[in-house]
Amino acid sequence: MSKRPPMHQARKRFGQNFLHDAGMIRRIIRSIAPHPSDHLVEIGPGLGALTEELLDEAGALDAIELDRDLPPILRSKFFRYGDKFRIFEQDAMKFDFESLREDERLLRVVGNLPYNISTQLIFHLLSHSNCILDMHFMLQKEVVDRMAAGPGENNYGRLGIMAQYWCDVEKLFEVPPESFDPAPKVDSAIIRLTPYQTLPHPAKDVKQLESVVRTAFTMRRKTLRNNLKPLLSGETLEQLGINPSLRPERLTLPEFVRISDYLTDQNAAARKSESE
Ligand code: SAM
Repeated sequence: MSKRPPMHQARKRFGQNFLHDAGMIRRIIRSIAPHPSDHLVEIGPGLGALTEELLDEAGALDAIELDRDLPPILRSKFFRYGDKFRIFEQDAMKFDFESLREDERLLRVVGNLPYNISTQLIFHLLSHSNCILDMHFMLQKEVVDRMAAGPGENNYGRLGIMAQYWCDVEKLFEVPPESFDPAPKVDSAIIRLTPYQTLPHPAKDVKQLESVVRTAFTMRRKTLRNNLKPLLSGETLEQLGINPSLRPERLTLPEFVRISDYLTDQNAAARKSESE
């Protein structure tokens, strides 16, 4: 097991929990299965626990790291990889991922993500998903379970529905706290997100879909009729073939899209008649 160099104190504010379990690192690399033709992007390389094995297999790796103390360590550690390794001292939340593309290759994004920003970061990445081939992330287990949850499950909600709108979502395996130094207080898991090249259930307006999903889950225990009252009536839901007495967690993605498209059409018709 490799240990963190004594000169680097793990920083809580950057969500630093460094992987140090060599067996687990190998398992993660196997599930990513990097290939010499891949252009990889690693978010938060830290001290390079995953980076080294990724660099050995991939064609190119760009890393994005916010903690300015780490890039000098990584540059000297991975000097021998030359141009194959680039590091950007930036905030991944504001990073323009499309700017990394240099050829027709889509990006393969990986990272043991800082848990405090992971869901926001994933929403940021989903908005760039047309330049991404796949994403492998270590996240808090509870977040992975929410992203992978289907209708009828307790933890099914906005995060899972929007992730599944853009991507095929697979929970791969769980990772115990002892695999990290320092050990986090929560269990972790690895997730694979594969953005669809053609969306299976495209909405006419994705902003409208987000608003419908957010409004539908205002109160999980209330019915769709209650929660969606600000947007449309129970009768309209019935006309759309949706039972208004259901709780939001029973609704499938195509049903949310049906509601959203109805509202998009209504809004367009209202705008048209205003302009006439
Ligand atoms: N990949 C390393 C590992 O597995 O040992 C480190 C993982 S640690 C959980 C998260 C890493 O993300 C840290 O190196 C941290 O400094 C970095 N980080 C935190 N916030 C970030 C941000 N907004 N943008 C880029 N990197 C960030």
